[in-house]
Amino acid sequence: MKKGKHLFTGKAKTVYETDDPQRLILLFRNDTSAFDGEKVERLERKGATNNKFNAFIMQKLEAAGVATHFDRLLSENESLVKRLDMIPVECVVRNISAGSLSKRLGVKEGEDLNPPVFEFFLKNDPLHDPMINEYHIRAFGWATDGEVEVMQKMTFSTNEVLKKLFADAGLLLVDFKLEFGRFDGKLVLGDEFTPDGCRLWDARTREKMDKDRFRRDLGGVVEAYEEVARRLGVPLD
Ligand code: ADP
Ligand code: UDP
Repeated sequence: MKKGKHLFTGKAKTVYETDDPQRLILLFRNDTSAFDGEKVERLERKGATNNKFNAFIMQKLEAAGVATHFDRLLSENESLVKRLDMIPVECVVRNISAGSLSKRLGVKEGEDLNPPVFEFFLKNDPLHDPMINEYHIRAFGWATDGEVEVMQKMTFSTNEVLKKLFADAGLLLVDFKLEFGRFDGKLVLGDEFTPDGCRLWDARTREKMDKDRFRRDLGGVVEAYEEVARRLGVPLD
């Protein structure tokens, strides 16, 4: 698959066209950002770790019946994916309180949320990804009601599959963010699932093993991602 024209440089990935108009190449960079791009650092090995981590998770989801954009790994830090018409909305599910939910509602980090909480955010850095609901999505035409329903269903299915996968590796899936897009008239999971976009705690010690290590200057960011990968059995070399 030939790498074509550069399409887009995001905060963590660069997107390229290919000779197939229906496929893109995602290049996972070492760049790591937080607070809507205000804090940025380059972390050695992060791009390759996340590329392989994402491939592993996307394949597990596909096998469990969640349609994803992932085709195959192309190199250490590149993957071939289906080209989606992205929906500019982030779908978040939370099993345990943390992050912006704790801040917004004044609840302690670490409370079990049963049943899990679902939230939509608008993907818009200058506006700091504001929280929205299905009425905003409908009013502004970001997705149809049918698509909203499918995104929610697919996000909850992902939660069930991954909660179990991480639990078997001694990890708590605290929360995560997904992005969806349209391919051949159907909704498909896009973007990535890596420790950059979820919260994972050690089940015994509740130690943070995700991007909160970067947000809070805890150190050992990529080492924690690699430890999660090792526990799951993600082949890193
Ligand atoms: P950000 O947009 O948050 O800075 P990235 O650096 O991860 O994020 O950039 C990747 C971009 O590619 C994002 O805008 C994402 O929505 C988009 N994207 C991810 N997967 C696909 C896909 N399969 N087809 C089209 N666009 C995609
Ligand atoms: N998240 C993300 N991208 C965003 C916003 C959130 O990947 O632009 C992830 C984040 O890593 C966490 C979950 O979504 O796993 C919920 O994030 P939260 O709303 O708590 O925001 P945060 O305080 O992490 O910015």
